[in-house]
Amino acid sequence: MGLEVCVARLADSLAPPPRQTVSEWADQNRRLSSEASAERGGWRTGRAPYQQAVMDAFSPYSPYERIVVISSSQIGKTETLLNFAGYIIDRDPGPVLVVQPRVEDGKSWSKDRLAPMLRDTPCLRGKVSDVRARDANNTTLHKRFPGGHITIAGANSAAGLAARPIRYALLDEVDRYPASAGAEGDPMSLPIKRTATFRNRKIVMVSSPTVKGASRVEAAWLKSNRQSYWVPCPDCGHFQILRWPNLEWPDADLAAAAYRCEHCAALIPGYRKAWMLARGEWRPINPKAKAVGLRIKPVVLELDGVWRDGLRVPNGKREPETLRPSVNTALAKPWATRPTRMAVM
Ligand SMILES: [Zn+2]
Repeated sequence: MGLEVCVARLADSLAPPPRQTVSEWADQNRRLSSEASAERGGWRTGRAPYQQAVMDAFSPYSPYERIVVISSSQIGKTETLLNFAGYIIDRDPGPVLVVQPRVEDGKSWSKDRLAPMLRDTPCLRGKVSDVRARDANNTTLHKRFPGGHITIAGANSAAGLAARPIRYALLDEVDRYPASAGAEGDPMSLPIKRTATFRNRKIVMVSSPTVKGASRVEAAWLKSNRQSYWVPCPDCGHFQILRWPNLEWPDADLAAAAYRCEHCAALIPGYRKAWMLARGEWRPINPKAKAVGLRIKPVVLELDGVWRDGLRVPNGKREPETLRPSVNTALAKPWATRPTRMAVM
């Protein structure tokens, strides 16, 4: 082998890997697991285009170190967080702390969501040793991989929150955290303090919102750049945020939700939603904020299901307490004290 070839090969092997965002990584590598997902096969960001900005805010090339996502439970926030965990293991390793509301939630997340991804996504297979090997490097709540580890904690247990420095704090379902982790104080600020020594840290807060005024994710989102997803009307092109009152069900057909354009008043049939979402864009209210905040309202995504849950019963009575879970999970908006106002927000 000539010296030139040797040098060229050495240069190739030393070259940094090409830049890849979290959504690109997921499209290329992530496999969905049958027990954790209604869909099978490869992940496709294009199925839910608004998720691209969420995942790409996680990427090391994003200027943001704090990412706040308000999202309903139906629309894949668990999967986007898993994609980030996979990306970290495969592309940008470092110490990770995943905080779930309770230790039991953390165990479920690890067994039911993380483990299937590690098993079914080829580039992750083998990076974390098999949990059945009774290996201290891979227990349910602690998994080592080359260059880092994922530790999973419950917000109800201070012991898991205050320990070694971490580069990635993934705080899931923060509105279900207790007010205090034992005597140690706020279970959200403890993990964030642990990231202080990493200049390239990422702090991710994700939740369905709960009670307005007491919602952690809402409070964090208000300090962020407050982005919403705007979509164009197929008839007139006017960009708008989809709003609950503009939904209609022609002929009371629950399966046929349609949307009234706020500009041209055209009635947009449900099948156009993919067209609209593909052309949507995130727009900030507060563009100078240091944190990125993305609120995903699933108005056109799950509405026939929401209807069936009793949120908007035609001429029917509303039962505030029983409605509360569906309002929170369906609308990604905290429950206000006056449900009548919630229904027409
Ligand atoms: Zn229009």
